[in-house]
Amino acid sequence: MKEIGIYIHIPFCASKCAYCDFISFDKKEEYISKYIESLKSEIETSEILNNSKVNTIYIGGGTPSYIDSKYIVQIIDIIKEKCDLSSTEITIEMNPGTVTQDKLQDYYNAGINRVSIGLQTTNDNLLKTIGRIHNCEQFLNTYKLARQVRI
Ligand code: SF4
Repeated sequence: MKEIGIYIHIPFCASKCAYCDFISFDKKEEYISKYIESLKSEIETSEILNNSKVNTIYIGGGTPSYIDSKYIVQIIDIIKEKCDLSSTEITIEMNPGTVTQDKLQDYYNAGINRVSIGLQTTNDNLLKTIGRIHNCEQFLNTYKLARQVRI
């Protein structure tokens, strides 16, 4: 069985940070469900995924935690149908200010076992200047929520 790693890009954000060069878009919510459907279709028809053992899945962005968690669950469920995820490290990028306990619980139930929480700086004034949507306290609250659901 071949071993692979998977990167999944979610190119949507609550707002665009001043310094950002990533492929990400704000105010494009109308495209989220269409994008997810296309992504699911690509996963379903991908031959390279068939009968693979997946070492890592990294769900990055953009802000994956910005979109409804049902989409993240759907994506992981489709990969599970095609691949062995029995010992996979599954990571999701999160932005403070976009995460709820319900979302985190959905991530955990789907098999996500690692999170990357974007902070950039603990200086609230600098966070505001660079266009981040959160402050340092929200980062700490997000971290605590993630620990509560044992991610
Ligand atoms: S949250 Fe990340 S991906 Fe989104 S605009 Fe800011 S830096 Fe770019």
